[in-house]
Amino acid sequence: MKMKKKKLSILLVLMLVMTIFTILEINIFHENGWAKGGQVMNNGSEKFFAAAVKNLNITVIYDNNPYIEGLSTAWGFSCLIRGTEKTILFDTGGNGTILLANMERLGIDPGKIDIVVLSHIHGDHVGGLEKLLEKNKNVTIYLPGSFPNRFKDGLKSAGIKITEVQGFTKICEDVYSTGELGTWIKEQSLIIHTDKGIILITGCSHPGIVKIITKATELIRDDVLFVMGGFHLAGIGKSELGEILRSFRKLKVKHVAPCHCSGDLARQMFKKEFHNNYINVGVGRVIQFK
Ligand SMILES: [Zn+2]
Ligand SMILES: [Zn+2]
Repeated sequence: MKMKKKKLSILLVLMLVMTIFTILEINIFHENGWAKGGQVMNNGSEKFFAAAVKNLNITVIYDNNPYIEGLSTAWGFSCLIRGTEKTILFDTGGNGTILLANMERLGIDPGKIDIVVLSHIHGDHVGGLEKLLEKNKNVTIYLPGSFPNRFKDGLKSAGIKITEVQGFTKICEDVYSTGELGTWIKEQSLIIHTDKGIILITGCSHPGIVKIITKATELIRDDVLFVMGGFHLAGIGKSELGEILRSFRKLKVKHVAPCHCSGDLARQMFKKEFHNNYINVGVGRVIQFK
């Protein structure tokens, strides 16, 4: 009888400890609300994630596709995100002179940029940085941690603030980096979380566009409102592209804007598949979200 009582009290203590742990765990989820090691910790509360981003707009400053006459096209990609807590330049194109000239024609003041996010090390995405920094040294640069030391040290010695991104990272309110993805060429993509879903911006999509979207939906459990940028699909055959389109459908991507290194055939096929939800993007295009 005595033994039974002892066993029962041990069991009760154990249960109490487990309950306390569970409560603590829930509190941690709500405090951070974000992924640890690439896994979403908060599975329940959508409300917790879904903050509205009002009057958000994205302007394409640099692309090899034309859109507005009088702006220069060149191989590479760059776009400006306004309406979020910070003004963010995503990539800098290949040539700083073209970048700054397009900015001027679009009425964009480089001095108003708070943050520069560099997707990956290729020259058509980081080439314009030096000239931009001549105009504005007060930016904080978010770059993949795997960037060469020479690149990072050069910035640091010039007094530029840098943040080395490895895993999923919050950049400012509602804006996140997917973290470095891929193996050979590591790349980060930008996530803006709006009350209508995820906006995903990619540089060259070297890790694979479908993999990047999948990762974004794992990190932020919400619908994919819009995917824009280089999809890296040039030279890919029709049947493989068809497979990729099916993946986009499976992932329930609502709007698409493939540009830069997406390739003409892919752009045509996306247009056919998405109709009005295909957004033709080139230099000077402004996409508004309300
Ligand atoms: Zn690249
Ligand atoms: Zn590229």
